[in-house]
Amino acid sequence: MNNRRDFLKNASLLTAAGLLAGKAGSIHAANAASAPIVSAKKRLGLQIYSLQRELYDNIPERMKELNKMGYIHLELAGYGKGKISNVDMMEFRKMTEDAGLKIVSSHVNPTIEGVPFLMEYKKEILPQVSEYWKATAADHAKLGCKYLVQPMMPTCRTYDEALMVCDFFNEAGKICKEAGLIYGYHNHHMEFQRLIKPGDENKNQNPWMPLGDQIEDIFIANTDPSLVCFELDVYWTVRGGNDPLEYLLKHPDRIKALHIKDTAILGQSGLLNFENIFNQMYKNGIRDYFVELENMPDGRSQFEGVKDCAAYLMKAPFVK
Ligand code: MG
Repeated sequence: MNNRRDFLKNASLLTAAGLLAGKAGSIHAANAASAPIVSAKKRLGLQIYSLQRELYDNIPERMKELNKMGYIHLELAGYGKGKISNVDMMEFRKMTEDAGLKIVSSHVNPTIEGVPFLMEYKKEILPQVSEYWKATAADHAKLGCKYLVQPMMPTCRTYDEALMVCDFFNEAGKICKEAGLIYGYHNHHMEFQRLIKPGDENKNQNPWMPLGDQIEDIFIANTDPSLVCFELDVYWTVRGGNDPLEYLLKHPDRIKALHIKDTAILGQSGLLNFENIFNQMYKNGIRDYFVELENMPDGRSQFEGVKDCAAYLMKAPFVK
């Protein structure tokens, strides 16, 4: 088991020494960058959060530029009451389609009256949260969306709290399914914290292994596969001390989409082996993935960063 784990870690992550030196990834990135473009029909997707406010300078022009870079699929951020960051959502859809792009997914955190940033779940608010999902799913069906994805983890201080959150996810999944959408959950690194199942506090176990279950695993085990899928953020999975390749191998039926992300520009940090991740993604039959970029560290614009990420994927022979 340990050997398999070690093999997988090495397969998907580059070595710790390489990570610290930043060398292994640089070699890998350089190889990919020098490879010829193998397909003109790559299905690059972008999480629009990556562009921050830069998208809203001139949405139609920005959309066209994205299309020229190779992006054809978008995952939205900023939905609220029929608008995408204060732009009417149907106007937003039109601008997207006029530029040859398609809205495939949208990140949405549920809110309730008086709590705009809802993190603390209690059983009593399930009906209010359900109402939110009903209205939001109806809007996203109009947008032609395939996925509706919850991107932030509600507070999970205990195992039982995590199980209650799973009930909310299952309910959201049911509502989305009725609207013709697939409900998904997107991870950061905090989902890889461990919670101990009640009764297991003093369980005799291997002293080398940490006690408890990772929250991501509790979510996967306690949500209905017919209602809830997972959008694995490969970068945050690594930051949480886990191997995205291992998750793809373990849960081919649950992970339906990926966030393709690095510390900044894809392929430059040496932290992730995107070739192995893409190979396994295709083996699992996953076709939907979205590039994500946090703040650019070098003073260049988000748009330039997103362009560099697209160039990396367009040149990479392992991206089909
Ligand atoms: Mg992400």
